[in-house]
Amino acid sequence: MQTEEKTVGIVVASNDFGENDKIITLCTFERGKISALVKGCKKQNAKLKLASSLFCFGEFKLLNAKFTRVTEFNCIESFFKITQSLKKFYLSCAICETLKVFMKEEELYPEAVSEAVNALKNIEEAEGAGEEFFFIRSFLKLLSCFGYGIEGGGCSVCGTKPVFFSFENGLCCEEHKAGKGEYLSENALSVLEQALSKKDFSESTHGSNSEFNVILKKLDLNTVKELFFILRHYFYFCSDKPNLPLKTYFKEFVLND
Ligand SMILES: [Zn+2]
Repeated sequence: MQTEEKTVGIVVASNDFGENDKIITLCTFERGKISALVKGCKKQNAKLKLASSLFCFGEFKLLNAKFTRVTEFNCIESFFKITQSLKKFYLSCAICETLKVFMKEEELYPEAVSEAVNALKNIEEAEGAGEEFFFIRSFLKLLSCFGYGIEGGGCSVCGTKPVFFSFENGLCCEEHKAGKGEYLSENALSVLEQALSKKDFSESTHGSNSEFNVILKKLDLNTVKELFFILRHYFYFCSDKPNLPLKTYFKEFVLND
C-alpha cells in the first residue's frame, strides 16, 4: 500500500541513479535518516532539482511505496553560498558526513538535525577563520548529540588547566591524562574552550565582535591543522572506524586555503 507523508530535513548525500534520477540521504526531524529516490531531477529546470541538492533543507513530501520517493519539495534554505567557496563546501560536507554516520535509521535525533542546519548557516555567513571556528563548535556539538560530548571549563577530574584531549575522558591535566588522545597547544586549548563555552557567537559571523576576533587570531594555520587532526581522530574513536570522506574533506581544505 502506498502512503504519503511530509517531513522536514536536510540532504546529507546525493548520488546519481540511472540517467535522470538521484538517490538522496535525508536526515529528518520526524523520520530520522532515510534514503529516497528523486525522479527526473537531473534535467535542466527540473521541478525537484533542489530536492536532490546537497545541503538543501526543507519540507519533503514522500511517497512510501516499494521504494520511498520524493514527490514535492518546499525549500527552506538552500545554502547556495556554501557551494561558491571550496573551504565552506568541504567544512559543510564534513558536517553532513558526521550527521550521516552517527544518525541511525529508525532513530530520531532532532537536536542533531537542528545543529547541522545551524552549522551550515554559520559556515555560510562566516568569514576567514570564523568558518573553522563555527565548524569546530558545531562538530563538537553534533558529537555530543550522539553521546560523545566533551566538556570545557578545565580538567574533567580536578578542574585545573587541561593539557590533553583524552578521547575517553575529555580535557585533562597532566596528572589525570588517561587513554587515547592528543596533547593540546596553548592556542588549540583556548580555541577549544571558546568553542565549548555556552557563549553566543551567532551575531559574530562577520567578526566585528572584538572578543571573537581575539579567538580567531589564535586559529592560525598550524592551530587549524592541529585541531582538525585531533577532531578527525576523535571522530574515528567515537564511530569506531576511520572515515575516508572526512579525511579527504579536512585535508583538501587545509591544503587549498
Ligand atoms: Zn586534573
